[in-house]
Amino acid sequence: MSQSRRGKSIRLDTKPKPKHRKVPDGVAMESFLIHGPSISEKWDFRHHVIPPISSSVTYRLEDTERGGQGFREYASGEAHRTAPIYIYDRLDEPTRGMLEDELAGVEGGDNCVCFATGMAAISAALGITLKAGDELVAHKTLYGCTYSLITNWYPKLNISARLIDLRDAAQLERAITQRTRCVYFETPVNPTMELIDIAAVAEVVRRVNEKRKEGEKVYIIVDNTFATPFCQRPLALGAHVVVHSLTKNIGGFGTDMGGAVIAPHELEGQLLLYRKDFGGALAPKSAWPILVYGLPTLPLRLKKQQESAYEVARFLRGHPKVKRVAYPGLEDHPQFALAKQQMRDLHGEFAPGNMIYFETIEKGAEPKNSVKVVDWIAKNGYALTLAVSLGQLRSLIENPGAMTHAAVPAEKRAEGGIAPNGIRLSIGIEHPDDIIRDLERGLELAE
Ligand SMILES: *Cc1c(COP(=O)(O)O)cnc(C)c1O
Repeated sequence: MSQSRRGKSIRLDTKPKPKHRKVPDGVAMESFLIHGPSISEKWDFRHHVIPPISSSVTYRLEDTERGGQGFREYASGEAHRTAPIYIYDRLDEPTRGMLEDELAGVEGGDNCVCFATGMAAISAALGITLKAGDELVAHKTLYGCTYSLITNWYPKLNISARLIDLRDAAQLERAITQRTRCVYFETPVNPTMELIDIAAVAEVVRRVNEKRKEGEKVYIIVDNTFATPFCQRPLALGAHVVVHSLTKNIGGFGTDMGGAVIAPHELEGQLLLYRKDFGGALAPKSAWPILVYGLPTLPLRLKKQQESAYEVARFLRGHPKVKRVAYPGLEDHPQFALAKQQMRDLHGEFAPGNMIYFETIEKGAEPKNSVKVVDWIAKNGYALTLAVSLGQLRSLIENPGAMTHAAVPAEKRAEGGIAPNGIRLSIGIEHPDDIIRDLERGLELAE
């Protein structure tokens, strides 16, 4: 029936499609972040060089049986996606799936499940590992919304949190009880740039888990947003789960929000079920720029930003109006030895990252100088922009005590080391001299 009233019929290419383009043994991670595991079952557009943005809420199913099978898999809490059955975007989706494969690969985890934001990912990681009556141990200083999640919302669900200083393994040993199911922290800590020794935490938890039954184990969850897998891979150091705000360093361009949970095989089904039912799925239109621009350029961006961060940190350390600087790359960081051990790039080189925290010298109790410096930069700065968020091409500056961590009660901020005169910097890819010039001129106003 090649000719009909409707004209020539289309001949489809029915040759079998290659299932997998194999990732060769020994491929460098930089190359993997560009090429990923594609071509995979998640991408059979063989002739695209750039993976397409898919935009289809629903999927054509061959028959009722296949539709039923797909629904049973995603509803069971045990789905393992080798060749996923696509049904509906919120359940699973190929552009997001390709991103998930790359993130799992670079963090060295079994699986990755992506969410609409970092907070959606953090809620999911905690949501599947905690239930009413359970306890969570977390570091006392946390990203402001994570702090709010566990102090405002979890008590209503009868989940309690012990906020301790996780730099001290003895405190952790004392804080874990029969009801503890999670140990949660960021390292470097936002915004103080303190570090937590992942391997030391893992050793304490390993000893606890040795004596526990399946289902009662403690999971270590690390928020790796600041370091990114370029600078640090927590799973290799003994953590069980990694969470990310893809909005920051990994997305890298400041155009899209996203979140990710990288977890062992046993948790994948629960994460997919959680995403299906709570609904915070990463939109494929947001997954695409992270896949196509963010991840492939992550090593280049971080390397450049880190070199500049070292120069900026050294400038600040030598400045008479600056009280102290916390950058893991400075020899006088109180945990420099740990930084050198724990923060290593994909080739094993020291990788202290692109984030800096510093405090201005103040004459009185009020943080006058830090506000003056930041406000001068907000109005007159060229390379530095007053804005929250981090990990973009542009360098960003903010006052955590007055801005991102303002929701944390003042006495908790003080306990957590977030000083009223503290300033956080996210170093971009400008020339470091231009970042330093803005800081120098802003600091001239300090009394
Ligand atoms: C921004 C951030 C989050 C939350 O991510 P969103 O994408 O904004 O929801 C979590 N943890 C850290 C360390 C962050 O910087």
